[in-house]
Amino acid sequence: MKRINLLDITTSNKIAAGEVVEKPSSVVKELVENAIDSGAKNITIEISDGGKKLIRIIDDGSGIHPDDIKKAFLPHSTSKIKSIEDISKINTMGFRGEALASIASVSKVTLKSRITGYDYGRKISIYGGKLNKIEDTACNLGTTVEVEDLFFNVPARQKFLKSSSRETAYVSDIILRLSLANTDISFRLFSNGKKSINTFGTGHLIDTIRCLYGKNIYENITPIEKHSDIASVSGYIGNSEISRGSRNNQSIFVNKRYIKDKSITAAVERAFKSFLTINKFPFFIIFLDIFPEFIDVNVHPSKLEIKFTDSRMIFKFIFDAVHESLRESLKDSFTIDTEYDSEKAKIREELVQLPIDLKPAEDALDKIENYKNVTKVKEQPIHAYRESNKGLDYSYNKIDEIPEEVSKEDRELSRENSETVKEPKFPKLRIIGQFNNTYIIGEALNTLFLIDQHAAHEKILFEKYKNEIKNSNVISQLLISPIVIELKNYDYSCYIENKDVFKNTGFNIDIFGDNTISIREVPIILGKPNIKNLFIDILDNLKNMGSGETWEVKYYHIATMACKAAIKAHDKLSQIEMEDLIEKLRYIEDPFNCPHGRPTIIKFTTTDLEKKFKRIQ
Ligand code: ADP
Ligand code: MG
Repeated sequence: MKRINLLDITTSNKIAAGEVVEKPSSVVKELVENAIDSGAKNITIEISDGGKKLIRIIDDGSGIHPDDIKKAFLPHSTSKIKSIEDISKINTMGFRGEALASIASVSKVTLKSRITGYDYGRKISIYGGKLNKIEDTACNLGTTVEVEDLFFNVPARQKFLKSSSRETAYVSDIILRLSLANTDISFRLFSNGKKSINTFGTGHLIDTIRCLYGKNIYENITPIEKHSDIASVSGYIGNSEISRGSRNNQSIFVNKRYIKDKSITAAVERAFKSFLTINKFPFFIIFLDIFPEFIDVNVHPSKLEIKFTDSRMIFKFIFDAVHESLRESLKDSFTIDTEYDSEKAKIREELVQLPIDLKPAEDALDKIENYKNVTKVKEQPIHAYRESNKGLDYSYNKIDEIPEEVSKEDRELSRENSETVKEPKFPKLRIIGQFNNTYIIGEALNTLFLIDQHAAHEKILFEKYKNEIKNSNVISQLLISPIVIELKNYDYSCYIENKDVFKNTGFNIDIFGDNTISIREVPIILGKPNIKNLFIDILDNLKNMGSGETWEVKYYHIATMACKAAIKAHDKLSQIEMEDLIEKLRYIEDPFNCPHGRPTIIKFTTTDLEKKFKRIQ
């Protein structure tokens, strides 16, 4: 064994920094939390290159006494507690007194601060843990901290930093969560000089939500609130419109601190499940306030977990709160909804079993045999549908100009399709007609089928597009004139991060410079929707997903949104068009639900009808 050394303070700080300071966003978190603790009402955060180059936090809080300014950078120096007993009644974000020391040991920090009663402030700069300069300076009330060249003296850590856009997204996430937890503070985040977050500190969570998430989410959420002797829960939950393929839009705060907790998440999702068949993750922002005795606060600062002394009680409390709010918000339509839901589930179950487990009336048995024999046919190639259908084309939407390559690709696709024998998922229907330009009515085997033509059309497009993406075979159409969009800073970095996702889904986009892009080609399946809106919606969706989402989930979302945009409502369909649509529907992977999970087909057996007409009991 070598002899034991006591590490000098700079080295030990540098090691400790690894725990608190992992990346730019962790620096931002510590510094903004300090600003919040100082009682600031306005906090501005500026970063360049995702914070790798510069992080600047400006607050209008109480400031630091000029004689304490050097002390603030010593390890274990804090104004927030005096002894261990204080920890249990702490109401500040920090108390360990390690952040400033740690940050200053791995970057170049300049801090200036002025408190009331003084005409001037004091400024200190510390580079790599060594005091560089300390002097009096003119400055505003409050504190400004600048952190430059993070990890300049720890190259091994610098190497692990992600791309600037990714680090920007992390910073943005931190500010989003801090703004939600501190609605009385106005936050502004600038990335490379461009504003990406701006909340107004009105003190109302709903205002902050609107600023952060936009109108669509704002319009689709309901409040929750419940109190007990030891805890209170409040916040907002979103309806199925805004549920997502990832848990990114879920935030839990315990005593104003953002945490991750599986049991609370499960409690909310379970409450939703008892109402709606949502197969995606619901939006929620939950605040749990609980007496500190019931939690262990002394968990590691960089860990987002928390321990409850009675987590089953917390689970039930949250479950009840969400459940009650859902019941309240569905009050009027409740009975109908549940009836409809159970009915929907039943219908779906029956349909999924078709055609293997068909249970029609006795006299239809020979027809089934017939049906089983005739339906195992080769799927017709796509061009056959196109030829037979002069009005509406369900394989592609009508567009003005189809580039030449399409017909070639189309042929290849047809060949591919005609080689695969596919099973129909439901019997061939005799089309009776169209109701209200919306529903197609058909019959087969003593069963009446109602098909939502738009949902069906959407699903057909969706499966086709999804397969094209899967096979890297997306066909694009050239726009007559490219669509030029100037993006907000954060949107732009989100686009850059997802450039390949757009490319692989058939969007051909050029960068125009200065946060401006030009869309030249879009997937042909889109037809002619409002491409700008669609693009922005897709970006919003990607943004809300955060950066950790898989490509598959992103593709799924893009396909869902694109196909929704491609569908027009209320088309009068000819007999041939209806037959064509239903034929295509029979052969897709899952014809029974639209991409949003609603049913596309509902059916009534003769028995169902006879019951309704009270011919039988
Ligand atoms: P902690 O927040 O755990 O106390 P820090 O190292 O983050 O430790 O900060 C050390 C001390 O510096 C704080 O206790 C506080 O007194 C002072 N301080 C840091 N940032 C600010 C700020 N923005 N405004 C006022 N005081 C600050
Ligand atoms: Mg702190």
